[in-house]
Amino acid sequence: MSGVRKDIRQCTKEELRSFFVTHDLPAFRGNQVYEWLWQKAAIDFDQMTNLSISQRELLAEYFTINHTSIAQVQQSNDGTLKNAVRLHDGKIVESVLIPTKTRSTACVSSQVGCSLDCSFCATAQLKRMRNLNPDEIFDQVATLNRQSLEYFKRPLSNIVFMGMGEPMMNYPNVISAISKITSPEGMGMSPKRITVSTSGIPKMICKMADEYPKFKLAVSLHSAIEETRNSIMPFTKNFPLTALQEAIAYWYARTKERVTYEYVVWKGINDSYEEAMALVRFCKHIPSKVNLIEYNPVGNDQFAQADAAAIDLYVEELSKHQIPVTIRRSRGKDIDAACGQLANKSIS
Ligand code: SAH
Repeated sequence: MSGVRKDIRQCTKEELRSFFVTHDLPAFRGNQVYEWLWQKAAIDFDQMTNLSISQRELLAEYFTINHTSIAQVQQSNDGTLKNAVRLHDGKIVESVLIPTKTRSTACVSSQVGCSLDCSFCATAQLKRMRNLNPDEIFDQVATLNRQSLEYFKRPLSNIVFMGMGEPMMNYPNVISAISKITSPEGMGMSPKRITVSTSGIPKMICKMADEYPKFKLAVSLHSAIEETRNSIMPFTKNFPLTALQEAIAYWYARTKERVTYEYVVWKGINDSYEEAMALVRFCKHIPSKVNLIEYNPVGNDQFAQADAAAIDLYVEELSKHQIPVTIRRSRGKDIDAACGQLANKSIS
């Protein structure tokens, strides 16, 4: 066959079945290929051992598998692994495996760089280069699952979309990857174990609530006062807090699941009593919980972790109003694998 071979992972199961029928072969071969691709995460036609050699050669004549490869693995002294993942066009994204005593959490990227401009985040400094394809997101998960089995003797227990990029700005591909990850014909993972984290694009939160309200939602809030939020997340000028609140209320009405607010407390920015109380009021609208994230320095002098007293104030006020609050300790800081630090620093 002449011309460019098609990436086989862009084919639906039906297309794979008809491919075989067109070549006078049984349609069920298409199901077998689909299973190899999405259940067993095969990256080479030669792995498809229940197909004959001539059938594998036929596939290779017409198709490629544009899989990702690991350019570098770093391990933190706390056990966290960070992969630099090379895409088929040479671009790099990072993904992270965070082990605890009982869990293995995969943190995956949805874009190369990021569309947004949060001034405290290292990924934002890269700008958005492109969206990831569904299979590139799937590969990150499949690779981390393999590493979890190898390093920690258990499969992934959770997946969080908290790596590079804004998932809501690559919505169709994120949804398509999640459907491969959760489908019984794919990795078969429960959607309840998946958290999509967004900086808060109201329209997209509503769309997701309508179409796919099965996984968990986290919203990076960082301030419940418009002015403060606009100054540290400039893109939010187009997305007022009232619109965000309405979208979250809509999400809750559809899912009956509490939303998690991710929140970093910075010295001199949002460490006042007024900011803490604004958060309390914001949280009281819709059942929610707060995850206070430790700040991971990314070389911007404007930001520094708030004093312990300010964190205590937040915890105290939230608890007083029965709003669940947890403090997320950073993992993998020594290898720039923690929240907001993913910026392909160790590799070019
Ligand atoms: N774009 C998505 C997901 C990626 S960021 C989102 O904004 O939710 C994952 C989380 O890390 C977000 O809550 C983000 O606000 C937070 N974050 C970004 N930079 C950080 C930093 N330097 N220290 C701690 N958390 C940071």
